[in-house]
Amino acid sequence: MIKNMKQIKDWGLGLKTPLLIAGPCSAETEEQVLTTGREIAKAGKAQVFRAGIWKPRTRPGLFEGIGEVGLEWMAQVKKETGLLLTTEVATAEHVELALKHGVDILWIGARTTVNPFSVQEIADALKGVNIPVMVKNPINPDLALWVGAMERLAGAGIDRIAAIHRGFSSYEKTPFRNAPLWEMAIELKTQYPNLDIICDPSHIAGTRELIPYVAQKALDLDMAGLMIESHVTPSVAWSDAKQQVTPDRLNELYSALTFRKPNSDNPEFGNKLEALRGEIDRLDDEIFHSIATRMNVTQQIGEYKKQNGVTILQVGRWEEIVNKRVALGKAMGLSEEFLKKTLELLHKESIRRQNLVMNDKPEVTAK
Ligand code: PEP
Ligand code: MN
Repeated sequence: MIKNMKQIKDWGLGLKTPLLIAGPCSAETEEQVLTTGREIAKAGKAQVFRAGIWKPRTRPGLFEGIGEVGLEWMAQVKKETGLLLTTEVATAEHVELALKHGVDILWIGARTTVNPFSVQEIADALKGVNIPVMVKNPINPDLALWVGAMERLAGAGIDRIAAIHRGFSSYEKTPFRNAPLWEMAIELKTQYPNLDIICDPSHIAGTRELIPYVAQKALDLDMAGLMIESHVTPSVAWSDAKQQVTPDRLNELYSALTFRKPNSDNPEFGNKLEALRGEIDRLDDEIFHSIATRMNVTQQIGEYKKQNGVTILQVGRWEEIVNKRVALGKAMGLSEEFLKKTLELLHKESIRRQNLVMNDKPEVTAK
């Protein structure tokens, strides 16, 4: 049912891909919404303005969204700047209010996609309504649940659907707030080549610093666009303060992204150097990812040694590592000098990390 979804460029809204959707996590005040919207529009990169009006918060007592009045502020942004509007809906009432205030595109949040009752309620509210809907992946890595939500909407007659990849909750410690599990997005695209997928680097990253990395990776995977949270004063945002960027910063990071040409059936895909550089970028990312994973294991070993009163440095073990790895690396065509230097660096950093553990100063990992 979702095989023949209209792609974003064919939604009839004048949108071009890759599409940039930007705006604050939450609408907070009239001033914040208008200033953010104006600054985003001024940079000219985004085509759609986002803001959360009803916020699904993990624990009660936090800001749960400004409600309907925020839609009036968003409508003002649209009137002044021409940016299209999108917001999250989780109930039939949200749908009704969003439509009443001229929201152009709806999205279903990760905490709603997990619940077929809620998705069905939204789908029922959309029967006979002609509006595009973007569906965020469920918080758990369950492709069928993601697809199922889109099928419910398609069943209600919605023929303009896009998926949003926003990462997945994971028990494992990762540098991300939500583990990207890129393979899930790739699998979705493989099953439904026509379905556009937009990446939400903000909710994957969880911190401003990681947004460019995630955004680039998404573009390299040929995603149809990015949704990035942007706020005039991110540090005092009422929700997701750590992952929002100012409109200026958004402009800067977006301009620094490399938009590679899509795949081989594009006649322009002759730029071999560009393709090879892309490969290098990907491999470097993998190397760093592996090193970070290695350091986490190192830290666990440090904790274990500490519990058992064992010293950090065990010369025998280290010699064994060097001998084995150098032999292997040489067989792979790497020079002995390079291998030894690299291992030395890894070893030094591991010892430093274990020292921190011994002295009760565990490394802070971004979450
Ligand atoms: C959001 O976009 O601000 C949001 C709540 O996202 P998610 O549903 O991906 O957690
Ligand atoms: Mn958010």
